[in-house]
Formats: sequence, C-alpha cells, structure tokens
Amino acid sequence: MVRERVGPLPVESRPLASLAGAVLAQPVRAERDQPPFDRVTMDGFAIASSAWREGARRFRVAGIQAAGRPPLELGSAESCIEVMTGAVLPRGCDCVIPVELLRTGDGWVEAGDAATVEPFANVHTRGLDCREGDLLLAPGTRLGAPEIAVLASAGLPRADVRADPRIVVVSTGDELVDPGEPIEAWQVRRSNSSALRAALAVRGFPRLAEDHLPDDARVLRERLAAHLATYDVVVLSGGVSMGRYDHVPAALRDLGITEVFHRVAQRPGKPMWFGVSAAGQAVFGLPGNPVSALVCLVRYVVPGLLAAIGAGPSPPESIPLGAPFHVRPALALFLPVQLEQSPMQGTVAMPRPTRGSGDFISLLGTQGFVELPPGPKDYPLGTVSAFRRW
Ligand code: AMP
Ligand code: MG
Repeated sequence: MVRERVGPLPVESRPLASLAGAVLAQPVRAERDQPPFDRVTMDGFAIASSAWREGARRFRVAGIQAAGRPPLELGSAESCIEVMTGAVLPRGCDCVIPVELLRTGDGWVEAGDAATVEPFANVHTRGLDCREGDLLLAPGTRLGAPEIAVLASAGLPRADVRADPRIVVVSTGDELVDPGEPIEAWQVRRSNSSALRAALAVRGFPRLAEDHLPDDARVLRERLAAHLATYDVVVLSGGVSMGRYDHVPAALRDLGITEVFHRVAQRPGKPMWFGVSAAGQAVFGLPGNPVSALVCLVRYVVPGLLAAIGAGPSPPESIPLGAPFHVRPALALFLPVQLEQSPMQGTVAMPRPTRGSGDFISLLGTQGFVELPPGPKDYPLGTVSAFRRW
C-alpha cells in the first residue's frame, strides 16, 4: 500500500561526482564499441601470428606502441612492435607475446619454448564487451560503483536522476529530553530521531532534517503544516497510540492528510499510521517505542522512499532460523536476530527477542530482524524467513 501511494519525485541533472546511490531516470547507451579498439592486455611484443606459424621465432623490434598513441603499422612479418598494456594493437599484428616469455636483445626478441601463439592472444578485441549504441543502463537503476564506471565510460559528465527526498524526522512527546540536557528520573532521553536518521543516512538518504514537538494538538498542527510546506516526506515517531495525549492522527487529519492505514496486525509496531497529502507527500506515524519505530522505518518507510526515488522494491534476504522459535500472538512478528555462521547451514539467524518494544538495548549485537507470520505457531530450526537489516 505504501509503494502504491508514493509517487516518484521529479528528475534532476547531477554531475558524475555526486551520483553515488542515486536512481537513474534516463537510459544510458554505449558511446563507442567496448573496447573501442583491439586493446593490448599484456606488456610484450606484437607480431603477426602467420609468421609464427611459418616458423619465425626471432623478430626485429621495429617500434614501440605506447598506450594512448595512434596505431603503428608492422612493416614486415619478420619484425615485431613492443606494446604496452592498454595500447592499441598495431596494424598488421594480431597477437601479443608477453615480455616474460621472450629473450630480449639489442633491437630483437626471441621466443623461448614456453611461448604459445595464436590469433588474438593477449588482445581484448574491439566490441567484445558491448557495441556502440547498446543499452547499458535502464531508468530505475540504482547507481553503485560499476554503474558509475559505465556512465563515465559512456562519456557522460552528468546524468538525470530522481531528486533525493527531503525528509523531516519529527519526534513527539513531553517526556523526552535531548542528550546533553539535564534530565529528571521520570523523563526519557530522546533517541528515536537519532536512530531513524542513522538508518536513513546509511541507506543513502542525505537530505534529513529534524524537529521535536510536544504533545499539544495545536502546536502539532501548526508545526506539521510548516513541515508539509517544506518537505517531501514526514516521518513522525510517537503519539499514534490510544492514549489521551496521542494527538498525531487527529492533527494529520485536520491538515488534510488522507489516512491510508492505521494499526497493523504486527508486533512490535501495532499503532503504525500512514497517510498521504493531496500533493502526494508521504506521512509516516511510527509508534514511539524505540524498537517499534526502527522496525517500522525499515519495513514501511524505506520501501516508500525507494518508490519516491523510482527504485524497485528491495526484497528481503531469505535466511534460515538458527534455533527454533515459538510465536505466541496472532500477529505477524518482527523478531530481532543475530546472524551467525553455521558449519552445516551457512548464515543463520539466531533469535534475539527483546523484553518488549521499549527494550532497544537488546538490539545491540543484532543486524536486523526476521518477519514471521501470525501465530500461534512453532517455527523449527532451519525455517527460512525474510530477513531485513537495520
Ligand atoms: P508513544 O507512542 O508516544 O506513546 O510512546 C511510546 C513509548 O516510546 C513511550 O515510553 C515513550 O516515552 C517512548 N518514546 C517515544 N518517542 C521516543 C523517542 N523519540 N525516543 C525515545 N523514546 C521514545
Ligand atoms: Mg508519546
């Protein structure tokens, strides 16, 4: 439902140096054949293999072909041209004998018995990897290192990509106190926004802002109206449960945000709220409990952000449980796990249940969570389950 409701953001042109992690919004075609010429792959001596077949083993060195220079021409079959890795194969030659297989003298080289010669040995022939005009990258491709190498090699100094969503992470709650501020015994450190921002930053969403709002319906409404005027995506935490001071759903409704769903049959994170503005902005109301907030960010917000940047869904990894686990509630269970290497099964997910959704200390040492269908049910060791990383 989240992916259906979140439309792609506008396209912008960005220079090559700032494309890492972006999602391409244009096709990229090969500028030239790749390799663009018959390219030498070893330092050595280029000859005509026909001369070798006719018995020639000693060759006069007629020139040097350096990388980046236009091709020389082999004058006669008794001669050779010294060539460097990355150079064009000289005209009249069709193979390269590596320098370590030759005895070299003053102006000549001689092949030892170890040398074998065949046409195009140690040559990466023109057009072997792709042809000029071939489609190399399609719109929707996420740009990592190999894709950026291809963009550069296609001669593009910039590319059209989806804009990075401007995201504001808003915590709510009168009990919350910032790190660094004095705190009373009955107050709580404000940690969700920092954790949520970290989870977004490591996924390559750099345009992050933050706010904190009190449990006051009027202030919530005013500040959220300002955020909706500024940001593409609003990620709230807290204030979506059934308490007297949980004003978030009503405030969002007052601001014209259409509720798509509120409450999900899951543990943790049952109070999860999601809606969209008339302009297509996504608004996520995550539960305030720190474990719930983080799980719901990974499970709902991240897929929504991927839709916003025009990327496909990122399916979970399938990993077997490393120990049996019993699911008691009739709710989908998000179970934190620690990945371990088992000699028989490879990577397994060891269940590391928390003591409730407020127990974020127990997440230390876990890498993510698996999703188990509603219980009650016994899941035996080896049950393959859907794993997502924090
Ligand atoms: P709420 O959903 O607002 O009822 O919050 C549920 C629980 O999560 C309460 O114990 C809150 O104190 C706690 N909580 C809410 N927001 C945060 C936050 N930003 N950082 C840490 N704990 C929070
Ligand atoms: Mg609250």
